[in-house]
Amino acid sequence: MYLYRMGEDQKLINDLRSAMKAEELYLVYQPILNSNEEMVAIEALLRWKHPRYHFISPEQIIKMAEENDLIFELGKWILQEACHFTKTIQEDYPTMSLHINISPAQLTDGQFISTIKKVLTETKLHPSCLQIEITENLNVFDIEDSIKKLHQLKDLGLSIAVDDFGTGYSSLQYLHQLPVDRLKIDKSFVMNLNPEDGKAKAILSTIISLAGTLNMDVVAEGVETELQYTFLKEKGCHLFQGYYFYKPLQTNQIRQIIENEQIATH
Ligand code: C2E
Ligand code: MG
Ligand code: MG
Ligand code: MG
Repeated sequence: MYLYRMGEDQKLINDLRSAMKAEELYLVYQPILNSNEEMVAIEALLRWKHPRYHFISPEQIIKMAEENDLIFELGKWILQEACHFTKTIQEDYPTMSLHINISPAQLTDGQFISTIKKVLTETKLHPSCLQIEITENLNVFDIEDSIKKLHQLKDLGLSIAVDDFGTGYSSLQYLHQLPVDRLKIDKSFVMNLNPEDGKAKAILSTIISLAGTLNMDVVAEGVETELQYTFLKEKGCHLFQGYYFYKPLQTNQIRQIIENEQIATH
């Protein structure tokens, strides 16, 4: 098994085309918890079980798909798969909602909105249970058109999260222009937090209170220690995601957690 380095294997794109059909691509799901430590959502994250390469990061897969006109097809597959899974989870756990990462390129798809509608209808997942995560590099594409599409998503009943918040160049401009419901604080601010780091603490507190002032939810990503968790909670952060709670999990592991929670609460 090898480690794949971007661009070193030109044939990999053919592998990606067939991987979708061969079921080598799959999704894992990382729980997002509230301050009572109850699971409220799962984030779908892409994985590739490649026969030769040990690990290909989801960023690499997405980039490859974008460069080879596969992103619309791949994006649709991710949406279908994740919405379907979440719907089945809701049979036992009705409050579960779903976060999906959307690449900026997907938003340029003229069919994007109708694809979302179609998948929600097919899978019967309620639009209010779907949260779209966008990143701040959105503006490399047509920003006006992206804003229009995000408003259309809102009209459908979906909500919008800004992922990796704090790492882009125009974060505040973004919040001003886009119909955002939730900020996801980038994990680099969270996972490196230690009690002596006054600057990191000040940045986190500021993002949390900014979200509050703007009436947005805030999720801390990359929570790895109890100390990080308690600090964030004290500052008023109400949603948490990270290895301290759960790593991204296989579908059967998610089901297992839900079963255990139900046993615990009955
Ligand atoms: P992201 O959306 O910001 O996802 C969070 C990433 O942080 C995930 O990495 C997750 O495994 C990792 N993470 C979560 N908690 C912790 C923690 O406590 N510590 C550390 N060190 N890491 C943590 P992953 O799965 O490798 O995904 C990387 C990125 O790839 C994602 O970042 C997202 O931007 C992109 N991506 C993944 N799946 C998809 C997808 O289905 N579609 C699109 N468009 N992008 C995706
Ligand atoms: Mg994300
Ligand atoms: Mg992130
Ligand atoms: Mg990201």
